[in-house]
Amino acid sequence: VAVFSPDTLARVEAIVGAAYVRTDSDALLAYGTDGTKRRAPADLVVLPGTVEEVAAIARLCNESRVPLVPRGAGTGYSGGAVPTRGGILLSLERLNRILEIDERDLVAVVEPCVTTGDLQEAVEHRGLFYPPDPASLAQSSIGGNIAENAGGPRGFKYGTTGRYVLGLEAVLPTGDIIHTGGRTVKNVVGYDLTSLTVGSEGTLAVVTKAILRLLPKPAHTALVRADFSDVSQAARAVDALLSARVVPSTLELVDGPSLAAVARHLGEPPPAAGAVLLIELDGQPDAVEEEAARVTDACRAVGAAAFQLARTAAERQALWRLRRELSPALREIAPVKLNNDIVVPRGRIPELFAFLARLAREHDVLVPSFGHAGDGNIHVNIMVEDTPDARARAKQAEQHLFEEVVRLGGVLSGEHGIGFVKAPYLRLQLSDDEIALMKRIKAAFDPNGILNPGKIFP
Ligand SMILES: Cc1cc2nc3c(=O)[nH]c(=O)nc-3n(C[C@H](O)[C@H](O)[C@H](O)COP(=O)(O)OP(=O)(O)OC[C@H]3O[C@@H](n4cnc5c(N)ncnc54)[C@H](O)[C@@H]3O)c2cc1C
Repeated sequence: VAVFSPDTLARVEAIVGAAYVRTDSDALLAYGTDGTKRRAPADLVVLPGTVEEVAAIARLCNESRVPLVPRGAGTGYSGGAVPTRGGILLSLERLNRILEIDERDLVAVVEPCVTTGDLQEAVEHRGLFYPPDPASLAQSSIGGNIAENAGGPRGFKYGTTGRYVLGLEAVLPTGDIIHTGGRTVKNVVGYDLTSLTVGSEGTLAVVTKAILRLLPKPAHTALVRADFSDVSQAARAVDALLSARVVPSTLELVDGPSLAAVARHLGEPPPAAGAVLLIELDGQPDAVEEEAARVTDACRAVGAAAFQLARTAAERQALWRLRRELSPALREIAPVKLNNDIVVPRGRIPELFAFLARLAREHDVLVPSFGHAGDGNIHVNIMVEDTPDARARAKQAEQHLFEEVVRLGGVLSGEHGIGFVKAPYLRLQLSDDEIALMKRIKAAFDPNGILNPGKIFP
């Protein structure tokens, strides 16, 4: 608490109550990290219970020029919630209620720290559907999903979080409370501040409430697993599926090194397949069956060796196990993992995978890769031993990866954001003029630069 005078601490405690201010070193460290495992302690952890408290804390930080870092569930993969410059870590965990599910307007109104999975379950009980499905949904918060514009396997058919955000209540770094958008699906009154806030990584405003669009729950779902001899064949199958005009709800690709890691992790023999596609279809039962047949035909035409079809929830869960076990399985193959979620135009996926094989050879690194092939969004994991030399090779490989992705017409991040972890690479993607414009937008929201400083910009 070195940067805080006793007077400041007393003011914070007066706003939220002493029980909701943490100064012990355990808390400062525990709240100082996220999914990246990078860590920097906050000076204070503050747990507000109302939007008015959030606003009062923001005002205090703005007056005293103290960094203010919003935090949801702390699962972020770009260090966005890590308080790299100290200050107040604002945990929104007490704002965790589903306020309303309106079946006529087809909206849910939620506080920011509702867990994504809890919201999905609550609306599905009523025959409704909230599609965004990050793999972290059992922990991640809606506020964090909005701040990162989180996606997931269903992004191919249903898009990412931003498509479902109709309106927001948010606190500006100056302490003003604003309302953007509303309960309507159409709205072109003034600038679209909702969309601007989505994906802004907690640097423009603190989201304190969200109005989310819901859909009717699809009547039926089926999952096809297709096994291929290698990843280039699987990539060609993605092309074939798109040409067959099938729109699966998910189109996930797992490459050979990732399959091998999962097999080892589960104590199974090495896999026969060199790559796998998991293709989920949803809609009316007849349409789903017809599409499943077209998917199978398209994969067979490029040489798929084996198929499995799952119709019941239990069967689908069994096939999805491969995808769920990827994270723990990869952790066992090397201690250092640079986690990237690059995107290339869909048509360039075969080129991307050919490049990844070269990348692994040239830099002597492991590159198990998998992800949302339908979106061209591939999680490229650069993995090495934990030595200074190996870490340096991994960093060079990462730089090389980003240069190639930009050359292919792709982007550095599709879901995880820039945070501070990818900030050094921003200039590979954006021009100085574009970065300067973004900084002017940031200054309009946050004239004193107190909200989540050190994020996004190099
Ligand atoms: C195992 C694992 C799997 C993952 N899979 C996916 C995936 O499939 N798809 C995907 O998109 N991501 C994935 N992620 C990344 C992460 O879960 C998402 O980015 C998620 O949206 C972060 O939510 P959170 O609540 O944990 O946010 P945090 O990590 O707490 O914060 C993330 C950012 O949001 C800001 N923030 C949080 N709450 C607010 C708020 N109320 N107002 C303003 N800013 C706020 C923070 O300042 C920070 O910049 C995965 C992470 C893990 C660990």
